[in-house]
Amino acid sequence: MVRLAEFHRRATENLAAEDPEIFRLLEREMRRQADTLAMVAACSTAPPSVLACAGSALGNVTAEGYPGARFHAGCEVADDVERLAVARARELFGADYANVQPHSGSSANLAVLFSLLEPGDTVLGMDLDAGGHLTHGSPASVTGRYFRTVGYGVGPDGFIDYHEVAELARRVRPKLIVCGASSYPRTIDFARFREIADGCGAWLLADISHIAGLVAAGEHPDPVPYAHVTTTSTYKQLYGPRGGLILSGPDAARPGPGGRGTLAGALQRAVFPRAQGTPDLAGVAAKARAFAAASTGAFRALALRLRLDARQLAVELVDRGQGLVTGGTDNHLVLIDVGAKGYTGVVVERALEECGIIVNKNRIVGDTRPAHVTSGIRLGTNTLALRGMGPADMAACADLFCRAVEAVEQLGDTDYRLPAPARDGVRAAVARLCRDFPLPGYPA
Ligand SMILES: *Cc1c(COP(=O)(O)O)cnc(C)c1O
Repeated sequence: MVRLAEFHRRATENLAAEDPEIFRLLEREMRRQADTLAMVAACSTAPPSVLACAGSALGNVTAEGYPGARFHAGCEVADDVERLAVARARELFGADYANVQPHSGSSANLAVLFSLLEPGDTVLGMDLDAGGHLTHGSPASVTGRYFRTVGYGVGPDGFIDYHEVAELARRVRPKLIVCGASSYPRTIDFARFREIADGCGAWLLADISHIAGLVAAGEHPDPVPYAHVTTTSTYKQLYGPRGGLILSGPDAARPGPGGRGTLAGALQRAVFPRAQGTPDLAGVAAKARAFAAASTGAFRALALRLRLDARQLAVELVDRGQGLVTGGTDNHLVLIDVGAKGYTGVVVERALEECGIIVNKNRIVGDTRPAHVTSGIRLGTNTLALRGMGPADMAACADLFCRAVEAVEQLGDTDYRLPAPARDGVRAAVARLCRDFPLPGYPA
């Protein structure tokens, strides 16, 4: 214990002495995270204990294969680490099968799709503009090139129209349906999706990258009993390291694709040797740490708070005249239609960044602007809640957001001016909030 702590202390000191350039960048980034108000839906701030694992000597271990069946010697500790991570993931999500090796959420999805499908098979996934992810069949992704992809959208109210999805599934007979999203603020009915998948004999993949923390804490319906396979990235709502996770519930034991072996066996081969080589064992240890943290009462309280924060943030924004896609939220995510007020997403994003508020531009349903401009802004409460902010603090956040936006003078699609007095006022208020609600474990 003392030796490891000493190792990390010296490593940091050595870095400062040997490479001041990169050391200063690391310091600057830590400061930036502490001093800005991150309202980004697709990230969280990992506790220092997770980062300690991710930067550990386990990263030196080359361990192709799985625990007990490696292609390299010297893996006894690595095996214990990976077994622990798998056990914790299964426990956290009540899953029968877990694979902790995917390097990212995208890698996890690709491994699943390429193991369950043949090139040219039909995939039914959510349209990118409706909130889906690139790997759900977008033409910009390899998934859109190797499979025949059909997208489902949302109804005029912004909600998934399950009748329409069912109708579409009956018509196109997909081999696999993807549910789950990157910018969908509402509850997803996984049981309904399974009914639709069963109706056309399709596999169901639930991608819970954005809502994995809410699912783990019981704050969002659980896909694991319904989807054949569930995937997630581990750095978003699980407050873990960069990486991905594949889970399977009761279907893990059923026959795999083409009736061969089991689904679990197919998923295991899908990651290694099909899609990846050596796993990142330091990352796997960091995942194990994050899974343990996510199974505590403190995490469940955090998940509840971040959901209530988002709900309140939505109310406060509507009160201040902002238009929200679907009018509100059930999860951590609030999607604002800034186009309705004549702004573009990119201009609002940049103006807020100048004030120390970090958000991201996002296309919304029916968006007429390209992806680097957009008409929407996506907010999330993962880091606000981690800082200890509760629903009562959301009025202040909504105020700062609106003050900055209302001060913006939009000069063109991507050009704007933010008058210095308004900017400085919001900046000072952001700095005060960050001081009052420091990131746990990070230097204030
Ligand atoms: C972020 C995200 C991913 C991709 O995860 P990466 O780890 O960034 O590759 C996949 N699916 C959904 C729904 C996401 O939001």
